[in-house]
Amino acid sequence: MRGRIILWISIVIALASVVVLPWLAWREAQRQAFDAAADMTRAYARAVLYRTDKTAQQAELAIGRLMSQGAPPCSPDSLALMRQLDLTSTYIQALGFVRAGTIVCSSMGSVPLPLGEVSLRTSKGIAIHPHVPLAAPGASPLIALERGGYAAVLHRDLPLDISTAIPDVAVGVFHVEAASSAAPELAKGAVKRAWLGALRGRMEARFIEDGRLVVVVRSSRFLIAAVAALPVAYLEERAEAIAWRLVPMAALAGLAIAVAVLVLARQQRSIAAALRHALRNNEFYLSYQPIVELATGRCVGVEALLRWRRSTGEQIGPDLFIPVAEQSGIITRLTERVLELAEADAGAYLAANPDFHVALNLSPADFGSTAIVGMVERFLQRSGARPSNLIVEITERDFLDMDNALRVIAALRARGVEVAVDDFGTGYSSLSYLAALELDFLKIDRAFIEAIGTGAPTSQVVGHIIAMARTMGLRMIAEGVESQAQADYLQGQAVQYAQGWLFGRPMSFADAVRLAAQREERAAGVAA
Ligand code: C2E
Ligand code: MG
Ligand code: MG
Repeated sequence: MRGRIILWISIVIALASVVVLPWLAWREAQRQAFDAAADMTRAYARAVLYRTDKTAQQAELAIGRLMSQGAPPCSPDSLALMRQLDLTSTYIQALGFVRAGTIVCSSMGSVPLPLGEVSLRTSKGIAIHPHVPLAAPGASPLIALERGGYAAVLHRDLPLDISTAIPDVAVGVFHVEAASSAAPELAKGAVKRAWLGALRGRMEARFIEDGRLVVVVRSSRFLIAAVAALPVAYLEERAEAIAWRLVPMAALAGLAIAVAVLVLARQQRSIAAALRHALRNNEFYLSYQPIVELATGRCVGVEALLRWRRSTGEQIGPDLFIPVAEQSGIITRLTERVLELAEADAGAYLAANPDFHVALNLSPADFGSTAIVGMVERFLQRSGARPSNLIVEITERDFLDMDNALRVIAALRARGVEVAVDDFGTGYSSLSYLAALELDFLKIDRAFIEAIGTGAPTSQVVGHIIAMARTMGLRMIAEGVESQAQADYLQGQAVQYAQGWLFGRPMSFADAVRLAAQREERAAGVAA
């Protein structure tokens, strides 16, 4: 059942990665295209604003100089200054003196030049003549700014004449005081004064309207704003171009993930299927690792470790198959098999040696139902062993249902079977196990034993674990003891038991019994 759920989840993940990754890539392409287009449009608007600011600044300066000069209008001195200012101002076409809406003398000479209608009189006293009527046909259109009797004549197109990589970009300049219905002060392409409304007091705004991406920027110096608008069609073209690069890559990545997930799921299922076959084919056996009392050197028991030898002779370690058995729900049958094997190997010996114990590794799933209590009961009845001959070890490799675990542990302990927390300190919930569960032993994980005396930061941890176990009244078993120095340290810290290669690798039960007898003799010799 659980295997099927995992397979379905894998299929959903596989499908999701095939669909979701390309979709994300498409979204990313659109985002990149929008950002690039927005940056470009903003650059156009800013370029127009920069040139308009420069123009306004030169006009303001020149008119100011003429007004403050003091020489009578159209006098040789005044005309000389006009010519000088005209020559030094890059954006100014001509400067002149105005009488009744007509330039009567200018830096260009004394041909009268009518300025045409006024579109706006600004709060700073400037009259804008947006279309200076020119006699010469085909000449570039002009605009004039007039103040205090003097006018600066400017090319209408010059501030807008920025180079754009894309055709169809519309740019324009607006005076913020003009009526909302008035035409733009300067424009190339279709622009709307209403766009200024988007500024709402800010210096810059960006939005999409009528199929165009619009950027509005305000001048910090003059009462003007520049706009640039880019057709959204261009943006879509760019998004498509980016998508052509990104989407196939994402589709390939999605496909690779999907294949990997499905292959893994199949592999899991095939290991699970092989496990079922192995159960029928009796491919499992137990190895026993001696557990030694540090104070006396006596072997007080063994830990039963499951081994899988396939019919091909291949050995598969529990670290590989136990997690698969846990995930595919086969673990309960495997645990049942462990009890059967332990009974066959050790039942009679245990019945005759009440002080010797076998520690069995149980999975979190085994604590999910009271079935395990029945299995242990059958083991005791059939072998004639006593409950004190058994220790069960609990790990946190898989999710533990605390309520059920409490019930199962209580039932086992009530029967006289002792409980150990295995691999203590390696998982997230070791501490919550200690707080919530009634335990007898704490098995200090090999990782902390390895660190003893190394000076590594973790070398300090073992001392804290020992202190904690002592406070909680738990007996301790150190795992993975490989050196005499480690054993001496642990004995010095009053750790009661240890297992590891120093005392013996996992072996057959008969060998473990022989080793126990040798150690018993040695201990008795020392005592005598
Ligand atoms: P564990 O219960 O912590 O078992 C101790 C592991 O450490 C064993 O690995 C053992 O061979 C190894 N070991 C013992 N002494 C030393 C040492 O001095 N140095 C080193 N480097 N390693 C040492 P193994 O047999 O591969 O088992 C791995 C894990 O698989 C066990 O960890 C246990 O969690 C699980 N397992 C084994 N048998 C069973 C079983 O019957 N049922 C369940 N549910 N899990 C089992
Ligand atoms: Mg164990
Ligand atoms: Mg362990």
